[in-house]
Amino acid sequence: MIELEKFDKMYEGKAKILYETSDPNYLIQYFKDDITAGNGEKKDTLAKKGIYNQSICTTIYEYLSECKIDTHLIKSINSREQIVKKLSMFPIEVIIRNHAAGSICRRYNIRKGHKFSTPLLELFYKNDSLNDPLVVDALVTEMNWCDNYELKEIRQIAHIVNHRMIEFWNQYNITLVDAKYEFGLDCNLKIILGDEITPDTQRLWNKEGESLDKDIFREGNDMLKVSSVYEHINALINYQSIGQSHNPDYL
Ligand code: ADP
Repeated sequence: MIELEKFDKMYEGKAKILYETSDPNYLIQYFKDDITAGNGEKKDTLAKKGIYNQSICTTIYEYLSECKIDTHLIKSINSREQIVKKLSMFPIEVIIRNHAAGSICRRYNIRKGHKFSTPLLELFYKNDSLNDPLVVDALVTEMNWCDNYELKEIRQIAHIVNHRMIEFWNQYNITLVDAKYEFGLDCNLKIILGDEITPDTQRLWNKEGESLDKDIFREGNDMLKVSSVYEHINALINYQSIGQSHNPDYL
């Protein structure tokens, strides 16, 4: 691919910025140091978080691509930026839960840690002003957020990604509790995994059941702890050989 020039900002979200490029089919995705929880109600800045997440996300998307899953990642170009395929995003968040944690425990009074007999897939309407509400399939298709065929394929791909990610984290003795995935259509109308997979978008527990993800921020105020978790996950998957899962000092 020819070298791309970075153009204007297309979108700035809570964790990332997307820039247009000299090729209309590609964007530059920049990872910020901002960290938010509860739809932006709790906010802070975590030095180097964007660097850790870019690096973690690149490793995971390269792994998924080796597993023959289509992702938007073309390549990482520096410590905070990636070239990605420009997608027309479906306004839905796909959550797959292997164990119960977070909102599902509150919603149905389910014990935290309950293992689902098969991975549970939920769809949420991506809309900050409505707090990303849970939606049923019939509403997704009724509102044309995607059609029936697309929804069926999104579900299938999400389950495959979940399966591959369970295997990925297993290598490090980490349990994938749940994760959020976002999909979009590329210029050939192919369904592609977009956005990011990082400790912002997944719940990860070590064998003692301790969190190695954004829950440390959601549930506490010790930013050093939060930082050490992101640093630890990055070091684990990028700099340590498989099986050597050392925990951050505080755990
Ligand atoms: P939010 O929008 O929730 O604040 P982010 O800060 O992560 O989240 O912003 C990234 C935005 O970019 C998200 O809205 C996501 O749907 C969108 N996005 C992710 N990947 C792509 C892509 N390849 N093409 C177009 N939009 C994308």
